[in-house]
Order: sequence, then structure tokens, then C-alpha cells
Amino acid sequence: MPDALLLTLLLAAVAIGWWLGRRDRRTPDDPGAQTELARDYFVGLNYLLNDQQDMAIETFVAALEVNSETIETHITLGNLFRTRGEADRAVKIHQNLLARPTLTPPQSERVQLELSRDFLKLGLLDRAERLLQGLVRDTHDDEIRRSAKQLLVDLLEREGEWQAAFNVAHPHLIRQHDETRRAAAHWLCQLAEQERGNASPGLARKHLRQALNIDAKCVRANLLLAGLEHDTGHYRQEIRLLARVPDQDTAFTATILEPLANAYRLLDDEDGLIKHLQSLLERTPHTSLIILFAETLRQREGASAAIALVSDQLDRESSLGALDYLIGLYRQDARGEPQERLALLQRHTQTLWHALPRHRCRRCGFAGEHLHWQCPRCRSWGTTKPITGIEGE
Ligand SMILES: [Zn+2]
Repeated sequence: MPDALLLTLLLAAVAIGWWLGRRDRRTPDDPGAQTELARDYFVGLNYLLNDQQDMAIETFVAALEVNSETIETHITLGNLFRTRGEADRAVKIHQNLLARPTLTPPQSERVQLELSRDFLKLGLLDRAERLLQGLVRDTHDDEIRRSAKQLLVDLLEREGEWQAAFNVAHPHLIRQHDETRRAAAHWLCQLAEQERGNASPGLARKHLRQALNIDAKCVRANLLLAGLEHDTGHYRQEIRLLARVPDQDTAFTATILEPLANAYRLLDDEDGLIKHLQSLLERTPHTSLIILFAETLRQREGASAAIALVSDQLDRESSLGALDYLIGLYRQDARGEPQERLALLQRHTQTLWHALPRHRCRRCGFAGEHLHWQCPRCRSWGTTKPITGIEGE
């Protein structure tokens, strides 16, 4: 049991003791009720001393009268149950509170907010959504409305209700929180992908333009806009859009290389590709860019041009992937014993290179092969990026 919970139990016990003492002094006209409360209090204390905290909590909760002075203790106990994974008990406590007619409207709203958190924890999304929608609509408390909106947005996002999530977050949450702003641009990208799937490029473009209005750094929106141009064979326009991505975030240079090379190939413009790769390399000498550039040169001018480029880049900066590629180039011309030595070396560089993750979340560190727009571990949007540097892309 967490120390915080034990401490709260003790506080609850003390609070009840104090409350009983006050009642004894104030209302001597109902000795029966006082005796019952006193008995519950001592039974609870006994459970606590015998290390039966669960029974102790149940008894204290039953004994603790709900009024303006004890409501905080009830809410806190419910929340503690939820945080230690017993949300069903939290629901009971919070529902018990809500049933009390003495609750003021602001108190009732606070309890409803906690109850919706309990429902979310239990996966009862419909019930949580109903409570939260009601709070967002009816409350006059800005803090409650903001918290309810945040929970509602989180819920709708889990359900893939991108438009509904956007409608709740827009405009206040998006303006106030960077994380929500970044997420909102991705919800619009989700909608754009759906519209692209429905063969509605016009609607998809509308969502993507809005995404970029909200978050000018949204790399995904530009990639999707480029994809829409590709769908209709506008490869020059596709290239123009892809070229914006490194301006938004240089870490994503590796992500554009495949569609970029493909677009130039479809235009039958190898010179254009080489010029483009050259300009990218001056800005971001990333491994996958070096390899694509070298491979394009190798096919056009032969292995020595590729070897010269990679050697030059390795002189400036170490790169495991480029080293592996260079060993492969040397192997192609080697025979006999040198060939075997190079094969041994490359076996190790390949093992190292393929064992490394390609993308990492900058927020929680989750790393993996694929680019996830929403991190599968911490669920934040747009924080997973290609890994760059010696061992990276
Ligand atoms: Zn993460």
C-alpha cells in the first residue's frame, strides 16, 4: 500500500475522531447516532492497527458523515482507490457522494469530474462521456470546464473521434496548450487520411491547410499534401511540398527521401534528383541521405564516384550505416582473402545496423523500427522522430 494512502487513512481516522468530538459537544440530543459513529470509528481503527487497510477504509467511509467539512476526505479517498487500480471502489465512493442532497452545485461538479475519471479508468467510456459532456455544457466554473474538456478530448481521441475531439478543443484548449495544438493538427491529418481514402482530395486538402494553420511545424500535413499531389500525377508540386519538410524539422529529412526519389524517377529527372540531394546534404548529412546519394551516383557513374562521396562524408562525421554501405562497395570489387575479410567486417556492421531502432519518441524514449505519429507508449503526437547521428538515419 502506498504511504500516501496510509497517511490519508490516518488523517481520515483523526478527522473522524475530531468530528465525533465536536458532535459530542454540539449535539448531545442524539446519543444513539453518536454511539454508532464512535463504534464504527473504533472498529475502523482496529482494522488499521491490524494491517487490514481495505476493511479500515470501508468502515471509515461508512462512518464519515458527508458534509462540507468532510467532502474533501471522501473525494481524496475515492481518488486514492482509483490511483491504486481499484476504480470500482472509487466509483462507489463518488456515487455515494453524488447521491447526497446536501451537496452544493460546485461540489457536485467536482465529484462528477472525479467520477468520470473513475469511469475512464474502468473503460466505461459511454458513461464518462455523458458526464463530461454535461459538465462542459452546464458548469460555470472555468477550471472544471477546462479539466472536463481535457478528459473529453482524451476520451474522443481514444475512440478515434477526431472531428469531435477537435470541436471540443477548439479554440481555447488549442490556444492554451502546445501539446493540444500539436495533437489537433494530427487529428486533422487523421481526417485528411480518411478523406483521401474516400477519394475526396478537396476535403483532405482543407483539413491539411487547417492543420498547418494551427501548427506550422506539422511535418505530417506537408507529407500528406505531397501524397495528394502524387495521387494526381503532379510530381513537381509533390517535390515542392516535400522540400518544405526539412525546413519544418531537419530530423525528418530521411522520411522524405523515398517519395522524393520516386517523384524524380517518374519525371525521368535524375539530374534534378542529384541537385536536390546535393543541396540537402549540405544542410543535413544524414546517413540515409548519404546512402541514397551515393547509390544514385554509383548507378550513373560507377562505384568509384560512390566511394569518393561516402569516404568524404565519413571524413567529416562518423556514421555506422554509411560505413556499412562503404564496406559493401569495397566488397564488390574485392576477390579472395580481402573479400573474405570485408565480408567478416560487414557481417558485424550489418548486425549492429539492423539491431538499432530507426525512430524514437523525444518525450518518453520509446524506440522502434517504424515512425508512429502518435507514440504507442506515451500517446503524445508528433514527438516520435527519425534517430539521427552516428547510429541513426
Ligand atoms: Zn512517447
